[in-house]
Amino acid sequence: MITATPQARQTSTWQRELASAITDPRELLEILGLPPGLIAGSAPVTAGFPLRVPRGFVRRMRHGDPTDPLLRQVLPLAAEGLAVPGYGPDPLHEADARRAPGLLHKYHGRALLVTTGACAVHCRYCFRREFPYAEQLGELGRWRESLQQLAADASIRELILSGGDPLSLADTRLAVLTGELARIPHLETLRIHTRQPVVLPERVDTGLLAWLRSLPWPVVIVLHVNHPNEIDAQVAQAFVALRASGTTLLNQSVLLAGVNDDAAVLEALSRRLHATGVLPYYLHMPDAVAGTAHFDVPESRARALINALARRLPGYLVPRLAREIPGNEAKTVLSAGLAAAAAPIM
Ligand SMILES: *Cc1c(COP(=O)(O)O)cnc(C)c1O
Ligand code: SF4
Repeated sequence: MITATPQARQTSTWQRELASAITDPRELLEILGLPPGLIAGSAPVTAGFPLRVPRGFVRRMRHGDPTDPLLRQVLPLAAEGLAVPGYGPDPLHEADARRAPGLLHKYHGRALLVTTGACAVHCRYCFRREFPYAEQLGELGRWRESLQQLAADASIRELILSGGDPLSLADTRLAVLTGELARIPHLETLRIHTRQPVVLPERVDTGLLAWLRSLPWPVVIVLHVNHPNEIDAQVAQAFVALRASGTTLLNQSVLLAGVNDDAAVLEALSRRLHATGVLPYYLHMPDAVAGTAHFDVPESRARALINALARRLPGYLVPRLAREIPGNEAKTVLSAGLAAAAAPIM
């Protein structure tokens, strides 16, 4: 094993991996042996949200298959340019839940801090693809207002670090943030919503694990995996390491047409997650964000899928099918075990 000196580790492996992510659709298609015609034609489609995908994630895609479920999550398609009624920039009315720059407080007892707009991957269906990060975020100094809000509201027991992807931040910045949070006595749990261990497993390195171990609260990591093919051996190893650092690992997926709207795929996903130490948490109905209508799955079909899962899996491996309805006091769970009416077996 090669151990680098601290000076030599100015940029860590994950940061180099992040910097070498693919951003040119032509390069992506060439690597996969696909024709360049698949790319979204017009520039406006991707102007604010360009292609971005780490090379390790691309290696998990099938060569020569334009319908590959991992490729579909990241490849900008011309369909994104279609204006569809009912789809807009802020379907969840997050602007209403803003308490300070980057601090969203919608639900009792937990608040969500948008720590950064950066992600290692750009998921085409992302519900925050139109999030006004520039307005919401500032430099470290602007966390101060969020921290003051948190400190002033003793009803908030859990803070969710979100983004973007909070693990896009360097370990030193994460440590500064949690150092500040540790001074707020009523915080009982830290939650981290991240896709980074999935798309960039190099991120789970000794520095990150040491930071996790140092935290004074129970830590829940909610991963984001949509398809079992996303979990290769290296990702599985990253999950195991995260668990070994004492965190609870859950997963949320988004139900996406052409990616995972299939009972066998969802069943395989739950089993693969469990085999790597993760329990399914939510299966989200996609939010009505402009440019994502082609991923939509009708609610009737979503319910049928979840019922099929409930027939095939132990209860703890069936995710909660949820939709976020603005103004509700929690996410709305559409599935509560097997529906009374017999749904067709998928
Ligand atoms: C989804 C969400 C949460 C977390 O909800 P849980 O049901 O606890 O997972 C908290 N705050 C905001 C603003 C959210 O969007
Ligand atoms: S990782 Fe999450 S926040 Fe980032 S683009 Fe994907 S869905 Fe959006």
